[in-house]
Amino acid sequence: MNKDLNVYDNALQLIGNTPLIKLNSITADFDGEFLAKVEAFNPGHSSKDRIALHIIEEAERTGVLKPGDTIIETTSGNTGFSIAMVSIIKGYECILAVSSKSSPDKIDALKAMGAKVYVCPANVSADDSRSYYSVAKRLHEETKGSVYINQYFNELNIDAHYLSTGPEVWSQTKGEITHLIACSGTGGTISGTARFLKEQNPEIKVIGIDAYGSVIQKYHQTREFDATEIYPYRIEGLGKNLIPTATDFDAIDEFVKVSDEEAAHSAREIATTEGLFVGYTSGAAIQGVKQLAAQGEFTKDSKVVIIFPDHGSRYMSKVFSDKWMSDQGFFDSQNEEAVATIEY
Ligand code: PMP
Repeated sequence: MNKDLNVYDNALQLIGNTPLIKLNSITADFDGEFLAKVEAFNPGHSSKDRIALHIIEEAERTGVLKPGDTIIETTSGNTGFSIAMVSIIKGYECILAVSSKSSPDKIDALKAMGAKVYVCPANVSADDSRSYYSVAKRLHEETKGSVYINQYFNELNIDAHYLSTGPEVWSQTKGEITHLIACSGTGGTISGTARFLKEQNPEIKVIGIDAYGSVIQKYHQTREFDATEIYPYRIEGLGKNLIPTATDFDAIDEFVKVSDEEAAHSAREIATTEGLFVGYTSGAAIQGVKQLAAQGEFTKDSKVVIIFPDHGSRYMSKVFSDKWMSDQGFFDSQNEEAVATIEY
């Protein structure tokens, strides 16, 4: 970066150092101070910019990745967008295997960033040959000079947040943070941030947000994989039907489960109360905060940092579509939100 002119060499230099923004309304009835780490301020509009850059630069540094190589990944969208962005700027090819559950907006955005996209069925088991894990693995084997990021099983995913998100939160709160609340998908965000924060102060309480239909909370409680926990759900990027090694379960104190419907309403509420247009899992995180507050988790001395992982624009055809909300049965017929468009 040319500091005199305030000009960046490329968008990658803007990754990280996202703002911590005080929530003034949605949490006003709860004891404590609530601060959102708004990851949509990354150039690729999500926290996944951090891991894409870190993992790719580590692969370059160790010589695994060479100029013109291909980067392959499984992704619900955000990681893919970030990898596509880094690939374009650094000159790599990018192939992504995406779940059919991902919103059409996300898939179009990946194509717009020059990635080759394979859409794979969402409701098959991870070891099914059609799952996006299997497809990515196969593409990696078939493509010469390719690197598979494998975010669910890559320790560098945790390291990316240990090296950036954790130190940022610590310094932005001047070390006064008492709680970290973060959604857990690969688990990289919560694990890396928690590891760093707990090294500074082991008293900080770390709470993960999980989905109904995911095995993560149960695994945390029992350390056993319980397949009966698994069923389809709508929130993207949160919860899992397998146990990712990118989750450090020992760094997390507890998990809270949130419903698709309540998380969706909470996401819409963040926009209309705080003026922050953030994604579905930001709603899930706030929904978790509401449940925790109702259980008496916070006191007036609590300083709670909540990770908002991505931008609302990725959900225009889902959470921010009245039709989609209505089709899911998330609006009841009496609900005036269902007639939000006023014809004049
Ligand atoms: N929210 C969204 C929208 C995501 O895409 C992801 C990543 N799958 C997460 C939350 C969870 O982040 P992590 O994978 O670091 O646990």
